[in-house]
Amino acid sequence: MSEQLLAVLKQSFGYSSWRNGQQEIISAVLQGRDCFVLLPTGGGKSLCYQLPALQLPGVTLVVSPLMSLMKDQVDSLRANGIAAAYVNSSLSREAVLDVLNQLRYGELKLLYVAPERLLQPSFLERLQEVGVSLFAIDEAHCISQWGHDFRPDYMALSQLKQRFPGVPFIALTATADPATQQDILQQLGLSNPYIHRGSFDRPNIRYTVQEKFRPLEQLLAYLKQQENQSGIIYCSSRRKVDELTAQLQERGYKVAAYHAGHDSTERQRVQDAFKRDDINLIVATVAFGMGVDKPNIRFVVHFELPRTIEAYYQETGRAGRDGVAAEAVLLFDPADIGRMKRWLEAEENPGRAEVVWQRFLSMAAFAEAQTCRRLVLLNYFGEARQQACGNCDICLNPPQQFDGTELAQQALSCVYRVGQNFGLHHVIEVLRGGQTQKILDFGHDKVSTWGLGKALSHDYWLSIFRQLIHFGLLQQDISHHSVLRLLPAARPVLRGEQQLSLAVPRLQSVAKAPAKLA
Ligand code: ADP
Ligand code: ZN
Repeated sequence: MSEQLLAVLKQSFGYSSWRNGQQEIISAVLQGRDCFVLLPTGGGKSLCYQLPALQLPGVTLVVSPLMSLMKDQVDSLRANGIAAAYVNSSLSREAVLDVLNQLRYGELKLLYVAPERLLQPSFLERLQEVGVSLFAIDEAHCISQWGHDFRPDYMALSQLKQRFPGVPFIALTATADPATQQDILQQLGLSNPYIHRGSFDRPNIRYTVQEKFRPLEQLLAYLKQQENQSGIIYCSSRRKVDELTAQLQERGYKVAAYHAGHDSTERQRVQDAFKRDDINLIVATVAFGMGVDKPNIRFVVHFELPRTIEAYYQETGRAGRDGVAAEAVLLFDPADIGRMKRWLEAEENPGRAEVVWQRFLSMAAFAEAQTCRRLVLLNYFGEARQQACGNCDICLNPPQQFDGTELAQQALSCVYRVGQNFGLHHVIEVLRGGQTQKILDFGHDKVSTWGLGKALSHDYWLSIFRQLIHFGLLQQDISHHSVLRLLPAARPVLRGEQQLSLAVPRLQSVAKAPAKLA
């Protein structure tokens, strides 16, 4: 059996060996067993149903939520001489009828469908007539409300098992947290499934978090170091994507924007240009990436905090597909957390908002972690690990602590001197002896803390203040222009009754920037 499968692997797909887990999964499918496959993106999931489809007598139905992926997969299967087709809303009526005819006459080995099409009664009846050998549910996490990408269309898939008793199911996903996994098995009604959980580690990707001060300058400094390598820069809004793209174009970068506000022709054009290396940078929203199979992406920058660790992992995972060293850089401003919170308060479904918030907190915790980034990631996905990786910013450049009591006292008393009525940047400018109009207007050049901290840069102070907020000594009053206020924990520090250990701010990337930028 195993030799025969290997022959099919070579003949039909042109590969000479199995990737981790593929052989066992495929054997289980061919024995008629339900399967659950958890493998990271690029792990080779498609083969786990494509190869069985060739061996089984009837047709294999592949449920997929993504039209562009369907087309890509079907094109490449056909290029290998495999009878495959898809039906979705992008096809004309005639084209759909043509596919349905091929289905009726048993000419297809693989048929890709969107869930809403699959569940139309007439389509289901037709399937019952032709004999389905296997159901493959791709992106299976879409069925779970706990998942990060819940799609109501997927819910109805839970009736399939009853309609097609005895037909094996294979559910595949790259989304991993244990609650979602359980939910998938249950919703789909998989019986005694063979479960394969692959490792999510991408050892060639270096994870780096940079505290965000002046993001554009930080990004430009980083891009200088990358020369003309390919990279993606993710932003959280279309507006930001357009703005940043223009800023990079002005500076001569070969860059294009990608987001759902552009029509599909434009998106395709950008994607192709990137693939051909005509442009080497793409600034994008989350809309970019599904189905991007470019092996030599050397870096992924997150200009803003992603909403979930799943999204972060998927997006960073697009770097270094070729196995060569790559980097994921996250620019992190703790204020993004408050922004997300306000945004969620507007969400009308409170249960959903809670799920989204909890997921977001895990992402924020990753960014704030003082331990190996890879450990945080892998443990989040339920892959127990204890060994620090040696290839992330924390491992390579461990955070250093110093006695920050005196700086904390200066910062806290400056907040007090300006009446707990001003925001972060104003307070810092007072400390640094600034003479802005606002400082002069309010007479803040007369307070005793004015100029006390002029030896340190604005960004250095910003990092100190963020830590004081983080430790609960200060708070930013979101309901009142984000003014800084002292919290009770500030008192013992101000009085000199308590020492405070702080992390040395990491400004290296910024510090390097100005000379090069000038
Ligand atoms: P996933 O669906 O898990 O994201 P894919 O099925 O798209 O991953 O596979 C990722 C890449 O790996 C594809 O380019 C595919 O052709 C390739 N691949 C899959 N299996 C093998 C194998 N056994 N040997 C070599 N390449 C493989
Ligand atoms: Zn590490």
